[in-house]
Amino acid sequence: MFDSIAHAIPYQKLNLNSSIDLTIKRLDLVHPNISGNKFFKLKYNLLEAQKLGLKQIITFGGAYSNHIAATAFAAQQFGFKSIGIIRGDELIHKPLNHTLSTAQQLGMQLDFISREQYRLKDQTEFLAKLNQNFPNSYILPEGGSNTLAIQGCTEILTAADRQNYDVICCAVGTGGTISGLIHASSVHQSVLGFSALKGTFLQTEVERNTIKKNWKILDDYCFGGYAKTQPELLHFMQNFEATYHIPLEHIYTAKMLYGIFDLIQKNYFPAHSRILVIHSGGLQGRLPSSE
Ligand SMILES: *Cc1c(COP(=O)(O)O)cnc(C)c1O
Repeated sequence: MFDSIAHAIPYQKLNLNSSIDLTIKRLDLVHPNISGNKFFKLKYNLLEAQKLGLKQIITFGGAYSNHIAATAFAAQQFGFKSIGIIRGDELIHKPLNHTLSTAQQLGMQLDFISREQYRLKDQTEFLAKLNQNFPNSYILPEGGSNTLAIQGCTEILTAADRQNYDVICCAVGTGGTISGLIHASSVHQSVLGFSALKGTFLQTEVERNTIKKNWKILDDYCFGGYAKTQPELLHFMQNFEATYHIPLEHIYTAKMLYGIFDLIQKNYFPAHSRILVIHSGGLQGRLPSSE
């Protein structure tokens, strides 16, 4: 499955009234169900689970997690069972949203746990119990970010991408994707991440994955925090979609592009910079424009 769709990802150049050359790499078009960076993050993990002869994938996420939806689909494709441990036990009594109902339809078992419990999910004790309750399972962390995910994300950049661009831009959630891009980037390039969350902890997190210095994560365009939005962002998103016919979502990609456009306007990038923007997908969880 992975090899058949990983290559031939379309590029789309935007017409800006600027010397800046902006090209979008449309990972959102990789596949309708497992689009964007999640495809690359899952690749080596599922191959590893298969190699280990495991039968089940367990992972974690919030109710709108693109990673949950992508894992449900990829697990089904590979013939694994899957369990999604979802943050927020109050959701048990609510109808499933689009992300969760899709995951369930793809065969994922959904387990809702309290936010307090969820906070313990990376602790040894919690994981030991999980292993006990669900033996022979492959446990993927929240957002799917681990060493194998980073390895997969290095494949987002081709040799031509390393040559033809000066700056690589991406949206940042847990930092797995940008870590892979940093690994893959050439010394002449810089990698600029746009955080979907408030705070500088992601900078520290990614520093643990690389000794390179050609990168930076900005949280100036997170619009108040994860999944938070403001009319200005939604307005930008509508305008962008109408102008360039590229769909965005408000959690990651709209914030990134808002940031890139703002930085271009502020002359942050040197004249004639060639920027490659990674469209990381996420459109499965896209809200209707009325929400
Ligand atoms: C998950 C996701 C990200 C963040 O990726 P990380 O590897 O967690 O930083 C960015 N964009 C979209 C659309 C996503 O779904």
